Amino acid sequence: MQKTGRITVRGIVQGVGFRPFVYAQACDLGIAGSVKNLGSEVEIYARGERFEEFVGAVSLGPPLSRIDSVEVSGTIREIPDGFFILPSATGSHTGMIPPDIAICSECITDISRKGGRYENYWATSCVNCGPRYSIISGIPYDRERTAMADFPMCPSCADEYGDPYSRRHHAQTIACTSCGPELALYDKLGNMVGGSDPVKEAAGLLDAGFILATRGIGGFHLACIRESAGTLKHRLGRIEQPFAIMVRPDHIDLLAVVSPQDRKLLESPVHPIVVLEKRDHSAHSDISNLHTIGCMFPYTGLHHLLFSHLNHPLLIMTSANMPGYPMITEIDVAMANLHRDADFFLTHNRTIVNRCDDSVMRDGYIIRLSRGIAPKRTAVDLGNHCILGVGPELNANATIYRSGFAVTSPHVGNVRNPPTLEYLQETVTNLKRILGAKVDVIAHDLHPRFLSTRFARELAAENNLELVPVQHHRAHIAAATTGPCIGIAIDGVGYGDDGTIWGGEVFCGQVPDLQRVAHLEPVAMPGGDLATRFPERMLYGILPDDDVLSLLGSRGWPDVDMGVLKKQVASGFNVPVTTSTGRVLDAASALLGICRERTYDGEPAMKLEAHAAGMAAEPWDLSFTTLNGCEILSSRALMKTAFLHMQNMDEGDHRQVRSLAASFQYNLARGIAALGIRAAEREGMKNIALSGGVAYNHAIRETIRQEILARGFTCIINPDYPLGDGCVSFGQCVYTGMMLEKRRE
Ligand SMILES: [Zn+2]
Ligand SMILES: [Zn+2]
Repeated sequence: MQKTGRITVRGIVQGVGFRPFVYAQACDLGIAGSVKNLGSEVEIYARGERFEEFVGAVSLGPPLSRIDSVEVSGTIREIPDGFFILPSATGSHTGMIPPDIAICSECITDISRKGGRYENYWATSCVNCGPRYSIISGIPYDRERTAMADFPMCPSCADEYGDPYSRRHHAQTIACTSCGPELALYDKLGNMVGGSDPVKEAAGLLDAGFILATRGIGGFHLACIRESAGTLKHRLGRIEQPFAIMVRPDHIDLLAVVSPQDRKLLESPVHPIVVLEKRDHSAHSDISNLHTIGCMFPYTGLHHLLFSHLNHPLLIMTSANMPGYPMITEIDVAMANLHRDADFFLTHNRTIVNRCDDSVMRDGYIIRLSRGIAPKRTAVDLGNHCILGVGPELNANATIYRSGFAVTSPHVGNVRNPPTLEYLQETVTNLKRILGAKVDVIAHDLHPRFLSTRFARELAAENNLELVPVQHHRAHIAAATTGPCIGIAIDGVGYGDDGTIWGGEVFCGQVPDLQRVAHLEPVAMPGGDLATRFPERMLYGILPDDDVLSLLGSRGWPDVDMGVLKKQVASGFNVPVTTSTGRVLDAASALLGICRERTYDGEPAMKLEAHAAGMAAEPWDLSFTTLNGCEILSSRALMKTAFLHMQNMDEGDHRQVRSLAASFQYNLARGIAALGIRAAEREGMKNIALSGGVAYNHAIRETIRQEILARGFTCIINPDYPLGDGCVSFGQCVYTGMMLEKRRE
């Protein structure tokens, strides 16, 4: 039974070796015809006895592809014998290019194979691995629209590229020692150093304790051995902030407890940084003074080569940029900005088209959505509009929704400074180009003064587009679920409907109609941002009590400062009101003397969690009230209980401090869960959704989840997006799409 037809496959079919895959299937099944890349779809003409089987095989796709639909239709086209891969043409753009993929095991073998073409070649890759998003300037994904256009293939690479039986058949990143991008090692004055093997030379310098700036797939890292961690911290002025490490796989079990789920993530094509619990909580404090440590495995040929020469089992690997600022990608920018931090520069001459930071995960949840995950594409029906979500201010990224798919960019950073704002604008432009999207609605945070809000307004004014402000925590809930629910958002800070600072919120309803039904007690934030930086101010804001002032006095607060603080809270001048969960945890951290000054995002709460880890908690009485029809959990009563416990504590008993930290977290979590559960009971809801940065805290999240499950409700947490603010641009799109659909009805 001869059969002929046209097969159209839609989805992520670019940069995943789809055409060679189809070619191999055709050869196996004796199919004649052709395959062509049309942007986000692949068009196949096929003729042969085993046509049906061929359609079945093609529908499975190669490992990295994501198939949305397969359409088969008849054709009157004459199909000659043989099977051909045709040059790409531009078609529709609803699909997506894949993210950068960690080097595959076969390519690692190629690098170590003696006498092979790829022996010791740092940028070895194939259709199953290597950079994608970071090198692509446009689709269809062909070499001329990537950073590899600068490197014409040598005859051997061209042969392999054309060989249908090769793993590098039509691999756009194919390159070797004789034709591909090259490495070079420089000192900080820009002099080239070392001999013929810059990697070996670089490994020697690392072993000797020098700090190297290394140019990777998506930007620069600073790398050094553990013994140099202190030097790096001082140079960066980041004394307290934990570093992530790249570690040899055979060494990781000595450092951390690795669950099967974590190991799977570490070894996945993403190769993210995975935040793991240390084997000994107090060990490796020079790398991380928390109970956790962020670890990743080598993910490029360069990393594998470095480790093959290195005598140390791990390297500190931190993004070479100020926290919250965009990653540095250009060599000259790195040389100009990092000469105080780095002793040497290991760089390559392949352009980084789109920068991409390392992704970070913990307990299977995404903390930073970036390399290997983004651009992240999610099938979701939000109607006919093309919506851009510009995200909040901290941990921002951008999402564009179009025709049934939302696509989220990699992590952008803290849009509080002009360089990061510029990066957000650039990201939006790139995303629009790659998707071929014509945005007609822009969603932004409700906060009127965010730079991202200003950007949204300007873009809307220029192009005459509709603007939709979305309250921060409603965006969190929209990112978690579109169904009817009770939504709990436990977060740092976000602008509320009433102009106060929200962050411990319980909603009821269904996107876009989410009504605030419960929250944490509104408390004073003396001095606004100052209370964030110095959490003892927050402590007094929550518990404006003379006993707290004597505690601060005993810690060396000058009388004058305490007098000013007291007056400030009493008068309410420059004292915003907040219901933030993060600020309550900060205050507890300050109360227990764990963290008195915040030097990086989330520090007081993260240190509180580290102190509490592994300690048993005891239940305390909780106090609830009602305010404007909302149920309130009293943060003040909770803090007062903790304060009383602390006064009864033996001076300097560290263990008691730690169990108090555990009890505080536990009771705050119980109280928040109770707000959600009681709202669900009142409103007859079955599902309780949870989002917000505080939900990364293992003890708090699991306490809330267990309380919810124990009362017979379902707990919804969306593991596909960050729990923190990295989900907000996606949530803004979801909220806006559903609102516009509702308006149409
Ligand atoms: Zn490979
Ligand atoms: Zn070559």
